[in-house]
Amino acid sequence: MEKEECIFCEIANGKIKVEKIYENEDFFAFYDANPIGEGHTLIIPKKHFDSLMDLDKDISLGYIPVIREVADILMKKYNAAGFNILLNNGKVAGQIIGHVHFHLLPRKKGNNNKGFLFF
Ligand code: AMP
Ligand code: ZN
Repeated sequence: MEKEECIFCEIANGKIKVEKIYENEDFFAFYDANPIGEGHTLIIPKKHFDSLMDLDKDISLGYIPVIREVADILMKKYNAAGFNILLNNGKVAGQIIGHVHFHLLPRKKGNNNKGFLFF
């Protein structure tokens, strides 16, 4: 279900147009509006869930395979050799948008090459 005034619900249902990286029945991936690096992408379930802890079982199980598909697309697109994934879960962890989303950042040689926590 969609949640009122949720910007990611509006992206998922096409009310706000963005460049699509990947889409299937349950998930949508698009570029972060304030990228911390080349190809910085967000992966969301189309249905609204506040956080990872609220996901239903099917969406939970479907998430990792979708992350892998998106990683594959982005690594090819940006000639990357690896990637970081990150999820800020809850306001106290810095979650600003209250619609669960994984960040995915493709990484390549010469591009800092430190882990997310050591950026
Ligand atoms: P956080 O909730 O802290 O994981 O971060 C939310 C992320 O969403 C930030 O990196 C923002 O740059 C990004 N963001 C916010 N609004 C939009 C939007 N309309 N389109 C794409 N990315 C967005
Ligand atoms: Zn939403």
